[in-house]
Amino acid sequence: MSDLLSAAPEGPILVCGGAGYIGSHCVAALQRCGVEVVVLDDLSSGHREAITAPLVEADLKDRGAIRAALDAHAPRAVIHFAAKCYVGESVTDPAKYYLENVHATWNLLEEMRAAGVRDIVFSSSCATYGEPREIPIPDGHPQDPINPYGRTKLHMEHMMSDYSHAYGLRYAALRYFNAAGASLDGSIGEDHEPETHLIPLVLQVALGRREKIKIFGDDYDTRDGTCIRDYIHVIDLADAHLRALKHLQLDRGNLRCHLGTGTGFTVKEIIDAAREITGHPIPAEIVPRREGDPAKLVSGGSRAKDVLGWVPRRGDVRDVIGDAWGFLSKNPDGYRSQ
Ligand code: UDP
Repeated sequence: MSDLLSAAPEGPILVCGGAGYIGSHCVAALQRCGVEVVVLDDLSSGHREAITAPLVEADLKDRGAIRAALDAHAPRAVIHFAAKCYVGESVTDPAKYYLENVHATWNLLEEMRAAGVRDIVFSSSCATYGEPREIPIPDGHPQDPINPYGRTKLHMEHMMSDYSHAYGLRYAALRYFNAAGASLDGSIGEDHEPETHLIPLVLQVALGRREKIKIFGDDYDTRDGTCIRDYIHVIDLADAHLRALKHLQLDRGNLRCHLGTGTGFTVKEIIDAAREITGHPIPAEIVPRREGDPAKLVSGGSRAKDVLGWVPRRGDVRDVIGDAWGFLSKNPDGYRSQ
């Protein structure tokens, strides 16, 4: 990826939401390639400690602040991670999601258009597919989200598509499966407040910060009755963003693809793997299903590989859990430990 620079015009990459979980790994990956980065983040869920790049502390609801950042830094492209991401909250407070995700992205696109910045790599989600009609989910599966979070991500994709058609925006929408893991040196990782994701919660039990892990339902139509997910290492996600950026800057066309490993694990399998890795018994309790959880989400197809040459390098779920454990062991209170 060191040829990223030669493929592109001048200027830094503006990473919106770059202090967040996936954004900060992408920032680190860009910096490792010698690419100049500026982060724009309101720190509502991101962490200043997660980045070494210059930070513009600003909110995408503030168009003046976006304009000022674009004027000051003249980025050659934008990578856009900034969004609210709790499915449950999106059901009870959809207004927040339409404002923070859809409206804020419209602000960003408008200011990019005014400033003549035409490339954007965008964090989308497999939540845009809704209840899958096929497993593994092929590239090009119909998008029919079942919650406001997924719908806002789909609206954002549609906006980019329309802006591309009308104004020449070039975009890559990368639809993630379950992001997990941490940097190999344990310096950056997942730190959400509140934490709702399976792997960090399981590891918090191993660390003694929680008494037990609740398994949301064991009556699904899966091999052990618990939900199956495709856990993709955050380092592999970061790598895909760099490849997508290069793809756009080489004018190879818009891209919509999903990012997963193609292998699914049940909740019980994840807990068992974490028991093995941490050496802790990790007590678990079966509780009722969580609303809105599809039984199985596993990526299929090969568009990311065919178009970007992307294949997960840390695709083994044991590496994903082991790296997350490395971060948490070093930072038992997340970034507050540093
Ligand atoms: N899950 C669970 N207990 C928890 C958190 C999650 O059983 O405390 C399950 C959840 O029902 C889903 C899987 O673990 O089947 C992954 O959930 P997560 O919230 O990590 O990601 P999601 O798939 O919802 O994006």
